Amino acid sequence: MKPIIIANWKMNPASLKEAKSLFSAVSKKIKKTSSEIVFCPPSAYLFLFQKKQGFKLGAQNCHWEERGAFTGEVSALQLSSLGCSYIILGHSERRKQGETSETVKNKVNSVLESGLMPVLCIGESREQRDRGEEQKVLEQQILESLEGISQNKLKTKGLCIAYEPVWAIGTGMPCDPEEAQKMMLFIKKVVSGIYPLDKIKILYGGSVNSKNAEEYIKESGYDGLLVGGSSLDPEEFSKISKLF
Ligand code: PEP
Repeated sequence: MKPIIIANWKMNPASLKEAKSLFSAVSKKIKKTSSEIVFCPPSAYLFLFQKKQGFKLGAQNCHWEERGAFTGEVSALQLSSLGCSYIILGHSERRKQGETSETVKNKVNSVLESGLMPVLCIGESREQRDRGEEQKVLEQQILESLEGISQNKLKTKGLCIAYEPVWAIGTGMPCDPEEAQKMMLFIKKVVSGIYPLDKIKILYGGSVNSKNAEEYIKESGYDGLLVGGSSLDPEEFSKISKLF
């Protein structure tokens, strides 16, 4: 199976000029790979990626309604019409700004209805891990974010779940691959109570770089990676994409 490598550019870079040069450097370098590469730039730069070959396009968030009086929002359907096929949902940087599992659930539903692949992010904070609550937190996030979403909805696309421990994001302190594997098996156990596992892909995210990327796929058994900081470095990101 092709690993899925998702580049989360977050709110970077700061200008269209920089975005153009980053895009051009990255797209030249990642030509030879058998992984599924997905770029999730800020929505303002999505147009740069349209009609380009060799990778998929994604967004970092969406609203759950298709259209209407929701100033400042963008819908899954609109993102689909721009060529997006993946949408990251419930990222911890959004949960920190008040996004709840209830809104994430509505978004997952809308992304599936629009025929796109949701990438549901879950992960515990440092404090929750120190209190030994990591499994409880993940279970709660999974069950609440998927509540009422039937197996039938997953029939065409399926669902990606990204395990992203909050303490590993952007810190340079990735989760140990053995621990990451334990968490992945736990996620599978929880999800298997709701959906057939062949509809679910589990990704790891949190300080992934070209030196540790392989471990999560080949040793821990993840189906892919969600890459933040390293996706903004063309050299580093191309090395990651060529590992598989
Ligand atoms: C992310 O933001 O999803 C992420 C994993 O970031 P980083 O790779 O920088 O830790």
